[in-house]
Amino acid sequence: MGKKVLIIGAGGVGQVVTHKCAQVPEIFEEILLASRTESKCDKIAKQISRKIKTAQIDADNIRETVELIKSYKPDLLINVALPYQDLSVMEACLETGVEYLDTANYEPKNEAKFCYKWQWDYHERFKEKGIMALLGSGFDPGVTNVYTAYAAKHHFDEMHELDIIDCNAGDHGYPFATNFNPEINIREVTQRGKYWENGDWIEVDPMSVNRTYDFPGGIGEKKIYLLYHEELESLVRFFPSIRKGRFWMTFSDNYLKHLEVLENVGMTRIDPVMYNGREIIPLQFLKAVLPDPSSLGERTKGKTCIGCHIKGVKDGKEKEYYVYNICDHEEAYREVGSQAVSYTTGVPAMIGAMMMLTGKWRGKGVFNMEQFDPDPFMEKLNIYGLPWKEKIW
Ligand code: NDP
Repeated sequence: MGKKVLIIGAGGVGQVVTHKCAQVPEIFEEILLASRTESKCDKIAKQISRKIKTAQIDADNIRETVELIKSYKPDLLINVALPYQDLSVMEACLETGVEYLDTANYEPKNEAKFCYKWQWDYHERFKEKGIMALLGSGFDPGVTNVYTAYAAKHHFDEMHELDIIDCNAGDHGYPFATNFNPEINIREVTQRGKYWENGDWIEVDPMSVNRTYDFPGGIGEKKIYLLYHEELESLVRFFPSIRKGRFWMTFSDNYLKHLEVLENVGMTRIDPVMYNGREIIPLQFLKAVLPDPSSLGERTKGKTCIGCHIKGVKDGKEKEYYVYNICDHEEAYREVGSQAVSYTTGVPAMIGAMMMLTGKWRGKGVFNMEQFDPDPFMEKLNIYGLPWKEKIW
């Protein structure tokens, strides 16, 4: 039976989720897209042949969100606004008894820090209310968690080393731009790196650890940099046999040079500074002058390749396993009008919603992706645009 879904956030990811949900009317029977700027919702709705309702909402405001939920009565809320809104939207879901899904963990606005604690702390309240929240149903986090669960289920008796490797080999032709929200992206890459080793988190200076990785799909060798990424926190919790867990991302020398200059001149700061008699946040100002990520789609060529490279033991023998997806920016744009970074996030958000609404993934409380059976999700990735491949050594 078809369900009603409320999508909050009409950015790059919101555009993809709305398109993808609209492609599956037997599950997503009715769709309401709400965001801070309603005209952005209307623009997306116009691209889709099915009827998509739209609304204006400030999701920082719990009362407004509660009112919208009460008037629309969705079966599920998909939160693809910014990480800052996660807790207020979860509060509104608790008050109204509506299930919740997001793609990025909570981050306070005034501190570049993200961790699951804030959202995990909602577990008991969601459980008592008898509803489910699914956290991090994008690609990384999201598919990378499912890949790891799939590896644990089918390929290893024990996993020892996990490397999550995110490559964007796309080119948008601008000297400097970010592929998703610049504020969130720059906060993420300018913080100290961190990885898991033998039961401890080891911190390193930003971008100070790198190596090369030979990517499949004709991408070839690229330099990858160690970053801290949120899925490491849940993956080492739910797979305690992992002794070493790291996250890597490719960056071009050009991107890093621009970032270094912007940092050196103070443009990546998130504390307020006085300008012409009013306070501004330099990073928010920078966002306003950088290309809008949603405008990159039509100019971006090339591919992304995100995967998990895992070492461990199967049947008493050492084993190495790599599972990955290759996504083509131009193909993604042709299908939904967005580049591959938004596409690889929006498709898993739709599939996560599908898992919840069809009862394939059920639970009461707050859950990460790797806590559920990976098989039905892996099957849907092949059907809905993110096919995966594997290599075994
Ligand atoms: P965008 O900046 O393109 O879009 C965010 C949208 O949220 C905008 O439409 C914005 O409105 C809206 N919004 C912001 N604040 C509010 C608010 N208070 N109330 C209502 N709407 C609001 O970001 P993306 O689409 O690139 O990213 C969306 C989410 O996906 C982020 O949380 C990001 O971290 C996550 N993400 C996850 C990835 C993964 O693999 N797991 C990868 C990439 C992104 P307005 O248009 O008015 O600014």
